[in-house]
Amino acid sequence: MNWRKAIVLWFQDKVEVLEFHTVTVASPNQTFRLPAVMRLKQYIRPYLSLSVRLSRQNIFLRDNHTCQYCYKKFTEKKLTIDHVVPLSKGGRHEWTNVVTACSKCNNIKGDKSPERANLKLLTRPEKPRWLPNRDLDLDGNRLPIAWRPYLAAR
Ligand SMILES: [Zn+2]
Repeated sequence: MNWRKAIVLWFQDKVEVLEFHTVTVASPNQTFRLPAVMRLKQYIRPYLSLSVRLSRQNIFLRDNHTCQYCYKKFTEKKLTIDHVVPLSKGGRHEWTNVVTACSKCNNIKGDKSPERANLKLLTRPEKPRWLPNRDLDLDGNRLPIAWRPYLAAR
């Protein structure tokens, strides 16, 4: 989460701070080191689990930015949303009918079903129960060092 939210939770006594960053923030009267690792005093169900909004970005996240027809990974700019059953054929704009597709595959598929277009879906689209935080790149080397002991080795 961002540092403002972290500070608020800390001041509300909802979390215990286990590690601090070396970075500080200052209010008019005090200086605080930013919390790096915090433990919730009471478990809170991530609110995202209740309902993930159907949006372009969330569809890309669910599909791991991977075109569901050629199975290659793209940046968001090169991705489009494809309706598996085209809207013109009665398909609906819902989680189980939308997939990530690169523009090339989307063009090939056009207004056809995947079978008619000779394309095979990588994964059957489902409604996700949660999504990873898009700012959190757990595979990268950009993670704060203070987090490392708390994350499973990869
Ligand atoms: Zn593709």
